[in-house]
Amino acid sequence: MEQPKTQEALLEALRQQTPKSGLLWKESQDVIPGGLLSGARKFKPYPFFTERGQGAYIWDVDGNRYIDCCIAYGVLFLGHRPPVVIEAIEKQLKQGVVYGTPHSLEIEFAESLIEYIPCAERVLVCNSGTEATMQAARVMRAFTGKTKIAKFEGAYHGWHDYASWSVYIRPDEMGTPERPNPTPESAGIPEEIKDTILMLPFNDSAFKMIEEHASELAGVMIEPVFGGGTIPVSKEFLQKLRAVTKRAGVPLMFDEVITGFRMGLGGAQEYFGIKPDLATYGKVIGGGLPIGAVAVSQEMMKTVLSGDLGLTIAGTFSGNPLTLAAGNAVLKYLKANPQIYKDLAKKGDRLRNGFNEYAKQKGWPASMTGVGSMFQIHLSKSAIIEPRDMLKRLDTPLADLQLYLRLNGVFIPWIHLAFISAAHSDADVEEVLRVHKVTVEACLAAYNLI
Ligand code: PLP
Repeated sequence: MEQPKTQEALLEALRQQTPKSGLLWKESQDVIPGGLLSGARKFKPYPFFTERGQGAYIWDVDGNRYIDCCIAYGVLFLGHRPPVVIEAIEKQLKQGVVYGTPHSLEIEFAESLIEYIPCAERVLVCNSGTEATMQAARVMRAFTGKTKIAKFEGAYHGWHDYASWSVYIRPDEMGTPERPNPTPESAGIPEEIKDTILMLPFNDSAFKMIEEHASELAGVMIEPVFGGGTIPVSKEFLQKLRAVTKRAGVPLMFDEVITGFRMGLGGAQEYFGIKPDLATYGKVIGGGLPIGAVAVSQEMMKTVLSGDLGLTIAGTFSGNPLTLAAGNAVLKYLKANPQIYKDLAKKGDRLRNGFNEYAKQKGWPASMTGVGSMFQIHLSKSAIIEPRDMLKRLDTPLADLQLYLRLNGVFIPWIHLAFISAAHSDADVEEVLRVHKVTVEACLAAYNLI
């Protein structure tokens, strides 16, 4: 197909491709603020509205089929509607959707997490990754009796007030590379919360800051693979972080909402061979239904539950049987089919290496980062190694690239973090690679960058 040569032509082609979505978009804006329930779903000229998903594909209400590399922002590790999960949900539907009482699926679920996750001896279950990092922050504060939590600039830990700081880096407010400045991600976050956060740079100055602030730090959070840029943190950096937090007596938390059961059954902890004090989970472990979890040591849990005012956590829907039936089915399937991880890593390497070699040969300012089944494309003249490098990206063409991809049948989310699932065949991966080559060329040409 001939590629549009300007942004206006591109937007018009997308409108032509999705007329029914355009009508729904108009309707939704009358009842839903901005038409969207999650900021991550933003698209120009408007998002497509989905009719159904199956395997590696998603269909919009206009009948267009896309290879789905969003897979619900990393949730659908086995693709859309995997039979093992659908069967488990159907079976559970006959017994009830939510009970508000304990039930045995909770035990099976917690036992699986404890079996696979190196740092897990006790498990809290909630309904989203955001809730998990919020619970983990409370656990760390209750454990240490301190308030401040350190997070890394550019890392995402959900949208709650304690975590929504310096995810997107604002050049005029970001501070120095040694001492980044916490900047809020939204209106409505109390200014006072800034005092509960220590913003760490993604470089060795972070270790010095942790030592300097040890007496007030309740914990340190890190995404072992920065989802915002799909930048894997080096093993050496994580080892240093583990050593310094141990020395300083500050709990270390891995946010494994994306990496958990994606980088292997033991997630990033197993992949890097580094054990944090606690870790948060979400996405994959719910089998497609809303989930969050915190994995903690027995000792930490015992401490926070003791004392005059022990840890209290509640949640009407936490551990609901429908989610846990789906979650248990996924975990059981992954345990029985561990070769999935090798296969996905091979496919991910094929995609990233295939694109990077081609882009290099062409001399394009473009590269793909990522690890295993996670990938992200960047349009930039320099390499993307740490979150601040993203400031050098060619943002306008990059925003258009994801629209070119969609026009060519590949769905990549607006934030660009993308995935292949176990349902993506070799042929799907080759098609994703081919479409990236064609669309990056069209996009760079539209902006006179080649
Ligand atoms: N932590 C990380 C690393 C994430 O990537 C996300 C979501 O993308 C979250 C936390 C929040 O999870 P949820 O969207 O389920 O609230």
